Amino acid sequence: MQGLMMDVPLMISSLIRHADRCHSDTEIVSRTVEGPVHRYTYHDAHVRSRQLARALSRLGVHNADRVGTLAWNGYRHFELYYAVSGMGAIVHTINPRLFHEQLVYIVGDAEDRIVFFDLTFTALVEKPAAACTGVKHWVAMTDRAHRPQAAIPGLLCYEDLIAGESDDFDWPEFDENTASALCYTSGTTGKPKGVLFSHRSTLLHAYAISLPDTKGLSASSSVLTIVPMFHVNAWGIPYAAALVGCKLVFPGGALDGASLYRLIEAEAVDSTSAVPTVWMNLINYMQQNKLRFSTLKHTTIGGAACPPAMIRTLSDEFGLRVMHGWGMTEMSPVGTINAPKGKHRGLPADARFQLSLKQGRPLYGVEMKVVDFEGRELPRDGKSAGNVVVRGPWVLRRYFKEAGGNPLTPDGWLPTGDVGTIDADGYLQITDRSKDVIKSGGEWISSIELENIAVGHPSVNEAAVIGIRHPKWDERPLLIVVKRPGADLTKEALLAFYEGKIAKWWLPDDVVFVDELPHTATGKLSKLTLREQFKDYQLPGC
Ligand code: ADP
Repeated sequence: MQGLMMDVPLMISSLIRHADRCHSDTEIVSRTVEGPVHRYTYHDAHVRSRQLARALSRLGVHNADRVGTLAWNGYRHFELYYAVSGMGAIVHTINPRLFHEQLVYIVGDAEDRIVFFDLTFTALVEKPAAACTGVKHWVAMTDRAHRPQAAIPGLLCYEDLIAGESDDFDWPEFDENTASALCYTSGTTGKPKGVLFSHRSTLLHAYAISLPDTKGLSASSSVLTIVPMFHVNAWGIPYAAALVGCKLVFPGGALDGASLYRLIEAEAVDSTSAVPTVWMNLINYMQQNKLRFSTLKHTTIGGAACPPAMIRTLSDEFGLRVMHGWGMTEMSPVGTINAPKGKHRGLPADARFQLSLKQGRPLYGVEMKVVDFEGRELPRDGKSAGNVVVRGPWVLRRYFKEAGGNPLTPDGWLPTGDVGTIDADGYLQITDRSKDVIKSGGEWISSIELENIAVGHPSVNEAAVIGIRHPKWDERPLLIVVKRPGADLTKEALLAFYEGKIAKWWLPDDVVFVDELPHTATGKLSKLTLREQFKDYQLPGC
């Protein structure tokens, strides 16, 4: 017997329509590329998204067509999210820090028909535009006054495009499993692969990340989206914000410590999310200038392991509630978030702190287990480390165009490429990426754990550990460090800092001091680049 409830499909357009009806005057604030801060409301965003949907139809965009974006977090990008998906097409957010060849490859693979770009990326677009023959129009996301003078075929300007359109547009209703957005993984191994989200997966994910033990979003929050909208849909915030009706603040391209601090204070931001590198710069800026937050209460940190020293500083010095989270593009992206349970209330401060270092519990909707090399499930004892595999309604089943074949295990789970443990309370702790773990004498050394200890040293700003070939042990750890400005630190002093914190055989074989470490386009340490840079490195005694 079937249930007798309505079969209303979960549509992305229903989010913006809801926000317009119930939160019409709630603000969306954007720092723009052109300069001034732009302010409007959910009502305005809904009107302009419908104008844009009409304009796109006029340009010949049909169901399932891909529309690319090369843009920072801002109100026009937000409108594109809703207009493109809402009309039944697919918004393809492109990472603007890609190289020329990668850009041409991704635009071609996605078969983008139109690409929208922020003025910052005019030069980036100018070169590949001619090579991207499938793209009919390139649209500069600006007004006529700022329209770039560039040799780009089919160049249009965003404000001109929507100016003549009415907002008389009814969002169509269709199957909720229809594709809504496309995002390529960074392709650290092999070619980038497209992850294709659906309306249904996006809405379920948006519900889950709004819950109190996740982002805890509400109509009374002011939320700053630091994570770029080209990095897995800003971790889903642009959707969840419309779902709950919170004030939304977009930082544009200014992600340095000073700009972020000023924006947080000016817009009374109380909640944000960012990768550790962004927080590192913001903390440095605030410490150098002896600043404090007056409204910020909460941050989610993920995308890479958050060092314990950072969680300590943010909670003890800046009074923030830090929630460590884990996920990946293939998971829309949120898989786990760390929030304590009722039974943890009585725990001594240090035990609570230790718990907060883990990557957290799976959100309802994500199933997770750790397995050995034969795929056998390992105990949930917080000790048995294995490959983390996941399943759920917002987890990838196949890559776009079936790239790479079937990524799932025979019993239908997605291997994440991460190694970790799960404890009896369901908390996941990532020990490493399987390709970053250091394989020494048949045993594994966690690069994350060695990095976390190094950045706990007061003279260390940032640290990375990679495995270097070793004739006897196969691989041994090399520690690469950026000192804090003016710090006086020797290799011996840093290695002595590890004493008593790890097994002796985990101690890095050598330390190299560098001025800066390479980062990926999404702000994570690029171990791939480091491995390339240090591929001929000679460890002492080898
Ligand atoms: P990429 O880094 O390849 O661009 P993603 O942004 O999808 O792709 O990153 C997903 C990966 O980032 C995860 O598989 C994991 O290795 C790493 N990651 C994300 N969050 C955390 C975390 N809190 N701790 C450790 N690693 C993390």
